[in-house]
Amino acid sequence: MRYIIGSDKYHVAGNWNDIWKAQAPHKAHHLLWRLCRGCLPTRYRLLERRVECNLNCPVCDEEIEDELHIFFRCAVARDSWCAAGLSSVLHNAAYQQPNAMDRIFAVCSNESSDTVGRVTMLLWCLWQNLHKLRSNSVSGTTEADLVRWEKPALGWVKCNVDVAFVSGSGRSSAGLCFRDSSGQFMAGMTQWQQTVILSVEGES
Ligand SMILES: [Zn+2]
Repeated sequence: MRYIIGSDKYHVAGNWNDIWKAQAPHKAHHLLWRLCRGCLPTRYRLLERRVECNLNCPVCDEEIEDELHIFFRCAVARDSWCAAGLSSVLHNAAYQQPNAMDRIFAVCSNESSDTVGRVTMLLWCLWQNLHKLRSNSVSGTTEADLVRWEKPALGWVKCNVDVAFVSGSGRSSAGLCFRDSSGQFMAGMTQWQQTVILSVEGES
C-alpha cells in the first residue's frame, strides 16, 4: 500500500493528517477527502471525463461549476460562510489559493480543529444543497418552484424561526435568525424548553 500511495501516479501532495483532525462527522471528512483527491463529480470534472452536461452552476447559473466556485465563490456559498460565522476564514488573505484543494489544506493546517470542523460541515451542507438542486431540476422542477429566502424590504428586518422536538426527550427547541434588507446576518439565537408544544404554537 505504501508503495502504491507513494508512487507519482497516485500521490496527491498535501498534509493529509490535518484533514482528519477536523471535529466533524465521518460523512463530512469523507467529502473533504474526495474534494482534495479531486474526485468530486462537479460538472466541470464530469465534462473532463467526457460526460456531456450543462457546465453552469445550478445555484447561480452564472459561472462554471467547479470546486472553487461551488464552495468558495458562488454568491450563495459566500452568504453561507457568513451565516455560519466563518466569513473571517473565507476572506483570510492566507486562504486565497487559486484552487479549492490548496485552500482547504491551508485552512486545515492553520485553524483549530473546532474551526476546521465547522468549515468541513459547511462544505458538506453546500454539496448536499447542490445535489438537491440538481435532482430537482432533473425531475422537471423549475427554478421558480424552489422556495428561496428573500431579503426583506428596505428598512425592515426579517426573522426566520424554526422549532424542533427531540422525540422522547420532552424538549422543544427553537432557533431564530435576523437579517437586514441587504440580506446580512444581524443576530441569531437558539433555546430549548422542557415542554412539548405543537409546532405551530412553538413557531408563533
Ligand atoms: Zn454558483
